[in-house]
Amino acid sequence: MNVRATWWRSVEGAVGRTPWSAPDALVRLAGGTKRPTRGSAADEGVRPTGSSSPLVGRAARSGRACFFLLLAFSAAAQTVDIGVFGLFRPVELRVAPASEALLVETGNTRLILEGRQSYIIRASLPVRVSSREGSAADFRLSIPGKIERHFHGILTVRTGDHKLIAAVAMDREVAVASVVAAEMPPSSPIEALKAQAVIARSYYAAMPARHDGFDFCDTTHCQFLREWPDPGSAPFRAARETRDLLLEYAGKPLAGLYSASCGGRTRALDDADGYAYRSVDCDYCRRHSPGQVQGHQLGLCQAGASAMAATGANFRAILDHYYPGTSLTRTFFLPASLSLRHSKDE
Ligand SMILES: [Zn+2]
Ligand SMILES: [Zn+2]
Repeated sequence: MNVRATWWRSVEGAVGRTPWSAPDALVRLAGGTKRPTRGSAADEGVRPTGSSSPLVGRAARSGRACFFLLLAFSAAAQTVDIGVFGLFRPVELRVAPASEALLVETGNTRLILEGRQSYIIRASLPVRVSSREGSAADFRLSIPGKIERHFHGILTVRTGDHKLIAAVAMDREVAVASVVAAEMPPSSPIEALKAQAVIARSYYAAMPARHDGFDFCDTTHCQFLREWPDPGSAPFRAARETRDLLLEYAGKPLAGLYSASCGGRTRALDDADGYAYRSVDCDYCRRHSPGQVQGHQLGLCQAGASAMAATGANFRAILDHYYPGTSLTRTFFLPASLSLRHSKDE
């Protein structure tokens, strides 16, 4: 919950303000997640040898350390807590490692799951599942006999209203890639996937938490999200290549609406948030499926976006077409000395 609060402050602060998740970043560093670990390996590589000055080596090392610290801050600043499987009202869940070992913590019990081991959750006590070090882990979560999905993050499960409430705290970019994978066929042109990635990210940045106990659900009530796509997949690439880019209107992230197909022309609507959707022409739908509407016909048309991308438009042109008057803004969260000092206090 703390994560959500800090993340919000980061977003509202926009560019240049103090990022707000130093404690989380330090936990990540201590936990040895991938980036910091890679950082220390690189540090070993620049250790001075022979006649080079130890001072130069130290400077290089601290420079790299700062760089990796910055990456850690940037990543840690953006975590979203996604409620999963809520529609199923599960009373039993099973969690199993997808690659590395998992740490399961409940009450005073701590156990490690490895290989083909799994853990059944029915308990009334809250359960937390992470990597051995307490950080984000790669795991499979299932409702036995119904559904299984692959997630990357920290799982928490608690009991509420005769069902288990499962939430995965995941890096916002993991959530963005997962939404793109759920929303668009992976064979869609990359620029259309990138447009969808920007919209998905902007939604998470623009919207306040919409649920009790977690930020967003995994259905179209919030954003449709299934599972973590393969890091080599097109949805993942779309998220990575648009990293930190937000669709903005009047200086604020815009939770842009979108449809599967618009029938030839999108609708106009004065949105309560201040953005006035304009009715724009959609060449592809006008020619191929006139009058056939799937969705609310506002903002981006997924069919039209794919067609634009197939004929050479990039994601910026696509977003510009369907959301006239908006801009794209890159958000960076630079670690300030204030953050470091603050983190030690906590
Ligand atoms: Zn929701
Ligand atoms: Zn269309």
